[in-house]
Amino acid sequence: MDLKFLKGVGEKRAEAFSKIGISSLDDFLNFIPRIYLKKINVREIPLNINENVIVSGKVIDLEHPRKSNQPFKVVLKDNTGSVAVPIFGASEFRSRQFRLNDYFVFWIKIDKENYSSVPRISYRDHIKIIPSDPVDMDFLKFDLIPVYELSGVLKKTWIKPLFLSKIVFNAFSTLLKSNPDYIEETLPDDIIKRYKLSGKKEAVLRINFPLEFSDIEFSRKRLSFEELFYLELILALKKMSLQNEKKGIRFDKDIYTITDKFKSILKFELTDAQKKVMNEIYLDMNSDKCMNRLLQGDVGSGKTIVAVYSMLIAVENGYQAALMCPTELLAEQHFKTISEFLKPLDINVCLLVGGQKKKLRDELLTNIESGKTNIIIGTHALIQENVQYKNIGFVVIDEQHKFGVMQRAKLKEKGMNPDVLVMTATPIPRTLSMTLYGDLDISVIDELPKNRIPVKTALRTDTDKPAIYSFVRTEIKKGRQVYIIFPIIDESEKLDLKSAEENYQLLKKEIFPDLKVGMVHGRMLWYEKDEETEKFRDGDLNILVSTTVIEVGIDIPNATIMIIEEAQRFGLSQLHQLRGRVGRGADQSYCILIAKDLSEDSSKRLNILCSSNDGFKIAEADMDIRGPGEFFGIRQSGMLNFSCTDLKKDKDVLEIARSIAFKIINEDPHLRKKEHEVIKKTFLKNHKDSLYLTDIA
Ligand code: ADP
Ligand code: MG
Repeated sequence: MDLKFLKGVGEKRAEAFSKIGISSLDDFLNFIPRIYLKKINVREIPLNINENVIVSGKVIDLEHPRKSNQPFKVVLKDNTGSVAVPIFGASEFRSRQFRLNDYFVFWIKIDKENYSSVPRISYRDHIKIIPSDPVDMDFLKFDLIPVYELSGVLKKTWIKPLFLSKIVFNAFSTLLKSNPDYIEETLPDDIIKRYKLSGKKEAVLRINFPLEFSDIEFSRKRLSFEELFYLELILALKKMSLQNEKKGIRFDKDIYTITDKFKSILKFELTDAQKKVMNEIYLDMNSDKCMNRLLQGDVGSGKTIVAVYSMLIAVENGYQAALMCPTELLAEQHFKTISEFLKPLDINVCLLVGGQKKKLRDELLTNIESGKTNIIIGTHALIQENVQYKNIGFVVIDEQHKFGVMQRAKLKEKGMNPDVLVMTATPIPRTLSMTLYGDLDISVIDELPKNRIPVKTALRTDTDKPAIYSFVRTEIKKGRQVYIIFPIIDESEKLDLKSAEENYQLLKKEIFPDLKVGMVHGRMLWYEKDEETEKFRDGDLNILVSTTVIEVGIDIPNATIMIIEEAQRFGLSQLHQLRGRVGRGADQSYCILIAKDLSEDSSKRLNILCSSNDGFKIAEADMDIRGPGEFFGIRQSGMLNFSCTDLKKDKDVLEIARSIAFKIINEDPHLRKKEHEVIKKTFLKNHKDSLYLTDIA
């Protein structure tokens, strides 16, 4: 049925709905209420509480204002009593809207801090009810009225919240009256039974029109299960198809020779965790399946050496390897460290970033194409069209969450189906890695090198600055170096940049005029940044003032103090990352968080950091506080836009849904079994755009 024929909709409103993608009655079935309002009797209206409620009844009186600042009043009566609802403004229009003896549903808010014996009521919304209309009467039977979020366009039209609630109810009634089985089941029976889930129809109906409060959560759980199940099913199919893709490379040159070479360049004892993940990577590389592995390890856990080891395997097998970094600073640094590591061996390493001189760049490109260069380190310059590789067999991507999936695919296209290792220092809560990276195998370095002394972290305010600065002096006298971070969360923030620069001048000229203070920020050109960082690394600067560009990967063991200004503006994981810049050497390091106007909330948040050095624990807390979407600083992909799922609450559901989905795809990759028919049907209906991953059609 065309939407415009639904009772109460009509041409104009149908058009408004179509602008937010609602063109048929069906589309209302995917609506999820934002809140539910309790319907109460007039007698039950409390005096003093901050609450929104619904009342309904017949209009028995209309009070017109005598002065323009007075409200128009509608007196509503139900079986238990009567109440006057004041409506401010547009009284002319209002007096035409309400007629004596008509029936209405009112959304009102009872305000707190009322000292009189009459409830203080403010008007929110209303709809008219026709007592002779059976659908209206059915609507009135519910004690919990759903309210939907009015998205952009709807907000601007005259579609009001309660009106929308009734439209949704009309849509349900209409669809189910013509066919009671209109809402089809989307999960197999045995799953529903085994996990005591609600049926689909029941869930969709009751999340919109609950009979009691418990219906809401029970229905939501079921819908969330479904949502996560199909997401994981897609990931399982993706993983399966990656494995079945054309064969990967088998790096099968004698591992002992490689290991001996590797050991000869090692300057420290590997941790058990490093050995474990190296073995996992080797096993992948040694098989002809195509590796897609995520390497997670906290800052300072020693991921670089793992990358070096894997690239060495590729090179010794006669392939090129590439390492792609999110920033030039980081690429440059990796280039230095890795060249240093590999110096004793006969391996050519080059750095490819944007902004290099044409002559140098041409030479680099020639060597990459001829195969003279074995290892290429760089930024996204690595995947630009004019870069031709001789035979790239292995790709490491550092800090993947800053890269899109597209880039990963592009890089893969460049080569002969290279093995891919993605490294991240942002410990990702398991719930997130299961949804975002569910198609990757995961390796975790869960141990720091033994020589590390945990960083001491303290939370301070602006008034502590003199003491902090004198502490800075003491450390610098000992020969140590210091980072001071100012928040420019988004490098385009002009105000932040200005204030960071002013603070830099202040530090340089007023506070530490006798010391060498430098600065880096995102607006500088890459070589300017590098020059400044180099000076700091070489010890020519005592203090490096920086914005968050310093965040990833900088490795300067002599720096022992990290001061973070306005720490309350950062996410916990980001602070943890920044803190990871110190504590890299043999000396005790310190992280000082300076917070302004510390609210109870942010103090609680920041104290997590003072009491823990465990990146995974901090990441979990960060996700719980800020939610998964904000966790990465950006909305990662459509994947996290759940409609019923709340990853904080639904961790268990996710685990179960994932294990079932993967088990099903393992056993029945084409979904041909009878008991999987409903899955196949639902998948084909709702997830067509993921079809290219599969051959189940
Ligand atoms: P991240 O995981 O943050 O990238 P890095 O690979 O940069 O960590 O390692 C941090 C520092 O620790 C580097 O100076 C590196 O040489 C050193 N390192 C790595 N592994 C070990 C180890 N097993 N023992 C001692 N130092 C190590
Ligand atoms: Mg690193």
